[in-house]
Amino acid sequence: MARRLDRVPVVVRVLYGLLGFLLVSYFAWLIVRRPDQSSGLVDGWLVAGGEVVVALLCLARAIGPRRGRAIPLLLGAGVLSWAIGDVLLTLESAGGATAPTPSLADAFYLGFYPFVYVAVGLLVHKGAGKLSAASWLDGAVAGLGAAAVAATFAFNRILQTVGGDGVAVAAHLAYPIGDVLLLALIVGGTTLLPGRRHGPWLLLAAACALNAVGDTFNLFESAASPSTLGAVFNGIAWPTAILWISISVWLRPGRTNPLTALRTGGFLLPGLGAAAGLTILFVGTMHSIDTLALGLALATLATVGLRLALSVRRLRALTEERHRQAMTDELTGLGNRRQLFSLLDSFFADNADTRTAQRDLAFLFIDLDHFKEINDSFGHAAGDDLLRQLGPRLASSLRPTDILVRVGGDEFGVLIMDATPRYASSVAERLMARLEEPFVLDSVTVGISASIGIATAPTDATESTGLLRSADLAMYRAKLGISSIEIYTQAIDDGGNRLRLVEELRAAVGEGGFVLHYQPQLDLRSGEISAVEALVRWPHPRLGLVPPLDFLPLAEEAGLMQPLTALIFDSALAQCAAWHADGRRLTVSVNVSPSNLLDPGFVDSVRDALARHRLPASALSIEITETTIIGDFGRCKQVIAQLRGLGVGVSVDDFGAGFTSLAYLGSLAVSELKLDRRFITDLSASDGKRDLALVRATVELGHALGLRVVAEGIEDAATLEMLTSVGCDFAQGYFICRPMPASDVDLSPWSAAPRPMAVRRAS
Ligand code: C2E
Ligand code: CA
Ligand code: CA
Repeated sequence: MARRLDRVPVVVRVLYGLLGFLLVSYFAWLIVRRPDQSSGLVDGWLVAGGEVVVALLCLARAIGPRRGRAIPLLLGAGVLSWAIGDVLLTLESAGGATAPTPSLADAFYLGFYPFVYVAVGLLVHKGAGKLSAASWLDGAVAGLGAAAVAATFAFNRILQTVGGDGVAVAAHLAYPIGDVLLLALIVGGTTLLPGRRHGPWLLLAAACALNAVGDTFNLFESAASPSTLGAVFNGIAWPTAILWISISVWLRPGRTNPLTALRTGGFLLPGLGAAAGLTILFVGTMHSIDTLALGLALATLATVGLRLALSVRRLRALTEERHRQAMTDELTGLGNRRQLFSLLDSFFADNADTRTAQRDLAFLFIDLDHFKEINDSFGHAAGDDLLRQLGPRLASSLRPTDILVRVGGDEFGVLIMDATPRYASSVAERLMARLEEPFVLDSVTVGISASIGIATAPTDATESTGLLRSADLAMYRAKLGISSIEIYTQAIDDGGNRLRLVEELRAAVGEGGFVLHYQPQLDLRSGEISAVEALVRWPHPRLGLVPPLDFLPLAEEAGLMQPLTALIFDSALAQCAAWHADGRRLTVSVNVSPSNLLDPGFVDSVRDALARHRLPASALSIEITETTIIGDFGRCKQVIAQLRGLGVGVSVDDFGAGFTSLAYLGSLAVSELKLDRRFITDLSASDGKRDLALVRATVELGHALGLRVVAEGIEDAATLEMLTSVGCDFAQGYFICRPMPASDVDLSPWSAAPRPMAVRRAS
């Protein structure tokens, strides 16, 4: 309390102290004197005078440029009106005269109420500015309940005890009515202001309650015989109430706790109000209860009904909102995995019902390729942005009845009713086309691709998890294979579950569980084997020797490419060093993936590996595919230059698929061109003439740029002969030798006669 008064001027504090002291002394005197003993000077003038000072102190709070003057002004006016009433009564009853009923003093006493109502209303309004309708109704229930209780007790007795003419009864009744209303306001306000109930409010509330008690005592005292308790209460209640009201305007409200300020009010007061209303109505069926009290009780219960209706409505809205939130993906606003399952579950439940016709459903499982790299290179905000843009884009190529959901991470799903696998794959193609259009993310433009797996129900699955699993397997197949869209077939399923494979792959990387096969490159001028290409394989306990195209995309996706490539380099260079030690000065070619080139430590790791195996840089050639180079030309150009700086050879693998990169070639520091295999395979066909012309042109171009030209994929003697005739430098292919373990590779010089190696075990 002391802290709350700290900004109050000293004069005001001293005056309140003095008034408090006088009040306590008066209280003591009331207790010790006889009930019938009264003093016009003390009971009349001293009390009235004190009250005037109290009223002036209250008004003084409104002086100065402070904000919020209305409340002290109103309360001050109310208290002053009361004090004037006391002065008038003292005048009217001077010299032992009996004041008339009603008297002019009553008019001033009653003038107190309107001022205080408005002040209390303002306080509640200020404190509860942003309250909900429900809170207001709670306040109304509590207030009406309190009013009903007060009316039940006050009015019954008053009507029984107070006699006199109509005006006198009205004057007497005006006080309890005024008090009941004030009490209702105070109780209602207290309900409304949880966490906002401050010192000033509580003091004001206590004062109003005390005032009502004083009024009640006064009524009964004036009618019945006086008692000490009655006289004491009668004398002390009003001056105390008025003093408290006056002090309340000077108190500073305590700081609001932001955590409790938003809490809605408890149920105690409204609950009591409702219970009171109910009890009064119940008792009213047996005993006579004042009509006003019954009316108030009825109003309380009607408000309770309203409040309940409101609660039910809010609860329903809340339930709907929670349901919506539970089914929605926060980032994209699309449905989430939960919604997907709920839809699928109800689809399968409907289909299980034999009374209705079975329907078909296709599920498309979409997984973005290399999304992790987008996150890593551009940041998670950009990744999120892309996912957000993706939703509307995909939705635009779907029918309104198709459902698009985000299954999680970079996985999306589409549900299409009554769709055949054929229709579903046409939708998948449309989606893929939309998806491959570039995305603009915070000033950078990125292109993405995806893999889509399609499964249909009830053909592929008869429950939700099974359908998702089938589509997932098909998607995984799409990731590994040539086509980026795959429809689920039983055959795919035999390959095993994708997640399991990723874990097995991770373990294999940890244990170095890979083997390299080597495929010789024939020097077409000398007939010597002067180089080999290292090709990785994964010996798998269940799946056998897994070819690289079946697990490298998975390693890439799982972020395992870096350690895997390190293993491959180590093993290839160890083998190369062994050959060198044997006197075979072979060059080993090693393939690298796009993510290896993005790795900033890549060139250093190549240099270290060469040093570890004590090999000259010229013993190593690194193969980078043409599509990789086109994908990130700037970065590749830089890495190629650094590798060449080390003295390592760099080859453009799978070159010539479209001759798109010829223009770039001159600016790259590469040392070798490796013609695309598909392109070579067609040479020996009957219409291979045009291809031969193209190969010749490419070889000439390569030579003009000072590059070695290697042809791969040579499967027959005719092709080998043609390549020799156009001036190709090196040749590689099954016809010469299949890739095989180092110990099996035939490195002896080429003889035109078919080599037994060419038909040996393929890998
Ligand atoms: P690539 O670099 O174009 O490798 C040549 C592929 O052609 C090898 O397939 C090889 O077995 C195959 N091939 C060789 N001669 C013939 C032939 O006469 N006819 C036919 N039809 N094919 C022939 P493989 O070993 O399955 O490798 C496939 C691809 O996997 C490679 O294509 C390469 O891009 C990638 N790869 C293989 N090993 C590695 C590696 O260690 N690291 C990386 N990053 N990629 C690798
Ligand atoms: Ca290669
Ligand atoms: Ca190749």
